[in-house]
Amino acid sequence: MTGPILRIAVPSPLYRTFDYLPPPSRDLTDLQPGLRVRVPFGRRQVVGFLLETSASTTLDPAALRPALEILDREPLLPADVLALLQWARRYYHHPPGDVFASALPVLLRQGEPAATPTLPPAWRITPAGRAALVESVVLHRAPAQRLLLDHLAGCAAGASSETLRPVVRDSAVTLRALHAKGWAEQVAAPAADAAPPPRPGRYPPLVLNDAQAEAIATVAAALERFQVFLLEGVTGSGKTEVYLRLIEAVLARGRQALVLTPEIGLTPQLLARFRERLPGPLAVLHSGLSDRERLNAWLLARAGTAKVVVGTRSAIFAPLRAPGILIVDEEHDPSYKQQDGFRYHARDLAVIRGQQLDIPVVLGSATPALESVHNAQRERYRLLRLPERVGGGAEPSIDILDVRRQPLIEGLSRPLLERMRLHLARNEQVLLFLNRRGFAPILLCHECGWLSACRHCDARMTLHLRQRRLICHHCGDSRPVDRVCPVCGSVDLRPLGQGTERLETALRQEFPDLGIARMDRDSTRRRGSLETLLADIHNGDHRILIGTQMLAKGHHFPDVTLVGIVDADQGLYGVDFRSSERMAQLILQVAGRAGRAEKPGNVIIQTHHPDHPLLRVLVSQGYPAFATAALAERQAALLPPFAHQALLRAEAADPERATAFLTAARALADPLADGVELLGPAPAPMERRAGRYRAQLLLQATHRQVLHRFLDRWTARIWARNADRQVRWSLDVDPMELY
Ligand code: ADP
Ligand code: ZN
Ligand code: ZN
Repeated sequence: MTGPILRIAVPSPLYRTFDYLPPPSRDLTDLQPGLRVRVPFGRRQVVGFLLETSASTTLDPAALRPALEILDREPLLPADVLALLQWARRYYHHPPGDVFASALPVLLRQGEPAATPTLPPAWRITPAGRAALVESVVLHRAPAQRLLLDHLAGCAAGASSETLRPVVRDSAVTLRALHAKGWAEQVAAPAADAAPPPRPGRYPPLVLNDAQAEAIATVAAALERFQVFLLEGVTGSGKTEVYLRLIEAVLARGRQALVLTPEIGLTPQLLARFRERLPGPLAVLHSGLSDRERLNAWLLARAGTAKVVVGTRSAIFAPLRAPGILIVDEEHDPSYKQQDGFRYHARDLAVIRGQQLDIPVVLGSATPALESVHNAQRERYRLLRLPERVGGGAEPSIDILDVRRQPLIEGLSRPLLERMRLHLARNEQVLLFLNRRGFAPILLCHECGWLSACRHCDARMTLHLRQRRLICHHCGDSRPVDRVCPVCGSVDLRPLGQGTERLETALRQEFPDLGIARMDRDSTRRRGSLETLLADIHNGDHRILIGTQMLAKGHHFPDVTLVGIVDADQGLYGVDFRSSERMAQLILQVAGRAGRAEKPGNVIIQTHHPDHPLLRVLVSQGYPAFATAALAERQAALLPPFAHQALLRAEAADPERATAFLTAARALADPLADGVELLGPAPAPMERRAGRYRAQLLLQATHRQVLHRFLDRWTARIWARNADRQVRWSLDVDPMELY
């Protein structure tokens, strides 16, 4: 033997590690897991990850190739992240190379040295800038500049350009403009340790209410051990304040805090609040950063320079020098589950990481996932409730509006329009929620019944009038709107169903004198348009707001007193067993955007199913009662969280091949599947998507361990088979969507 064998996770789709000999000229005494290693792989050179050293290999040692170079002096990832990734790799049954790669910033994956992070120079508001803010008239035409300036005014120690990115979309351009006007200046970065202590504030310190005080005391008493807390509190009940106090307690012990938020929840307001209250630089990790910025934030977290790390899903793998608490805000949010490749759930991994580190995990939400509610009910999680809005403001009242047999004007019933008039007459704002963008989801020929189908998917193309195109929301394909029916030549083509664009058009006719704002992915695509829109809404320029789920998170609209849920039916009877849970969460999230203490909001839900039992419970008794009722249904049907699922998906250009793959996989499963139920193979609910045919095989078991023992043996057999190369397949453990 020539020394230890290096067992390496190589970035490849293969479900295995690769063995190498050490590079010829390296001192081998300090080889540790977590080092990056450059290795030959096929005809390429790739950067792999050392998982372990071993005295032996199952291969012929003479056939092993030597690694080319060890890239790091010390492990890039701390032991706890390595342990988390090893756990995730086994639990999700995913190729190790891909698992380890997802934990590293792109530049490190490419072999870049992990240099000491530098604190970027900071931007600060100048006295002239403050003056300009006061005379806000000056900035009326430049909402992005005002937002950024407003943000800077809250950052006493200055803010790095990287952390300004989420504030406005083209922050670099806006910063240059502010600089040119003399309203912002660049100063040297504050030394990490010399960072000013949090300022006791421009605001008088808050007096915690009883529920907040109790929640904080309970978690603070358990900072030295693992325990999961479910912090359930309506929007505005002071959850963020609880996070902030807990983080302060953790920092006081010299430890770091990791806070996860959904992408869309990572708003400038949230960051400004964190920055204002907490000392030192904040490391922010999200998808809007450049590779360089991401690497630097990651290194700041790893070095312990950043005491607080705030990030979206993949930040669960962020290295921390001295982790003290993990917080997952909006823990029910579906975006915590990665939907392709390595399909991990960041909230679930937070619980595992907390357990491995022996530190507390706080999951917060106004509408916790049923899985989490279930865990609280069987006392695996400790439930902490903040039952009231801060300041005692009333919660919005919610009413069901039966629209059966009612005339609908582009989806709006008369009673809803009447209520809108009432609120608008009082000079208040109205918000309408419709989770479908575009003008209409279908274009129909009235003569022969032709529908605007997508050429590549089993789906209709959505009519977008503004862009004058038919667009498929599933594969992105688009084409000009047909003028005549491609089948019968008729010109009588009619849009069917409602989208936000159509609602906007209808409302402009109904309320010609009022400002109307539409907020969806189409209306906010242009740079700066979201900022302009939000600023105009807050100025009161728009009286009616229409939006998709984009409206449901992050932003608060205090002058909105009426919220209309235009179409709740879609969610009540969706294909997925989770649709009613999603709908309930969305309704309450949207409701939470509205009103304030002295002006509570009203919510009206239009539905053709006013007697839907879960909807009734939600409206009359609130989310906790809804969750209990929905869990009872899940239990009766033996669905998660009372069963555990995995979904094997396959897709191919030829539908036979996808199904053949799954049939073969099922044949491998049958002899092993004791205690595991197999359903399928069956075509996916949308069988054809982007030109490929999709099929799936669902696995379900009442005991998680039984399912995982089965998966261990089964996936090994699937991998060992000489699979059809035309078929792409993947395993989704704990799938959140069954298509
Ligand atoms: P949530 O995160 O649950 O939506 P927040 O923590 O953002 O709630 O609190 C809502 C608002 O109330 C914020 O403006 C916050 O500063 C304020 N707030 C929170 N706790 C208190 C308190 N105890 N007294 C006064 N104001 C508070
Ligand atoms: Zn026709
Ligand atoms: Zn399509």
